[in-house]
Amino acid sequence: MESIASLPPLRETIAAHGLDAKKRFGQHFLLDLNLTRRIARAAAPLAGGIVIEVGPGPGGLTRALLLEGATNVVAIELDPRAIEALHELEAVAGNRLSLLEADALEVDLTGLGPAPRRIVANLPYNVSTPLLVRWLHEADALADMVLMFQKEVVDRLIAAPRTKDYGRLSVLTQHVCEVRRLFDIPASAFVPPPKVVSSVARLVPRPAGERLADLGPLERVTAAAFGQRRKMLRGSLAGLFPDPTAVLIGLGLSPTARAEELLVADFVRLANHLTSE
Ligand code: SAH
Repeated sequence: MESIASLPPLRETIAAHGLDAKKRFGQHFLLDLNLTRRIARAAAPLAGGIVIEVGPGPGGLTRALLLEGATNVVAIELDPRAIEALHELEAVAGNRLSLLEADALEVDLTGLGPAPRRIVANLPYNVSTPLLVRWLHEADALADMVLMFQKEVVDRLIAAPRTKDYGRLSVLTQHVCEVRRLFDIPASAFVPPPKVVSSVARLVPRPAGERLADLGPLERVTAAAFGQRRKMLRGSLAGLFPDPTAVLIGLGLSPTARAEELLVADFVRLANHLTSE
């Protein structure tokens, strides 16, 4: 990939296209090719299948994905200035890169091409959790995801019961995926630097038979339980079940337990009960 290596440095691409970072787009760019290649390598092997990148910005990670051997990158970007800036890379990558100017929150992943599909992205932090929740709903369409979030979000994704970070996002994510933190990236690596440290995580959807086909009931149960996380479950679930105490006892759970004491599997049983009522 001589041609990618010979592109102007990202700083020049940014200057040439007036791509100064805008808060409204959650823009913090990674310009260090060693770091973007490290993220790309965490998703290796990249050849074959579709690599969906959300929020390529000036294209640092996009370049790295192509240099590390991706053969079909679909980059979804909301900011038209970034799309403009990426045309240069598109010209040298040929049919290995397609650009899609769109809001990733509205893109149907299956429409991007046949499986296997993967997502590799340094996410816009202002919409990272809504994006993840959407992809958890679309897990059937995905082989895996390698995603960068704010570190505190990854803390929540991997949190265990009885810890302060354990909540709705932990339960939903861990039910659908096996999730692992790979490494942290300091704020100083970004232009402009965000206020917090970032973490890269890998999420692999569990086999379809091991997870709920419809996440709706699990979302409702966890929203009610963690919406009032200090309350006992017999109280916080009152809006969902006519007799929450009986439901909890029936499932072998204590009605005086609080949300953070329940395992992911316990929430799944509550969700199944909600569906069967
Ligand atoms: N991946 C790049 C940029 C990360 S910043 C890098 O590592 O340098 C996040 C990027 O997501 C920005 O380019 C921003 O314009 C884009 N973005 C923000 N909201 C988006 C959305 N809803 N859909 C698609 N892209 C979005």
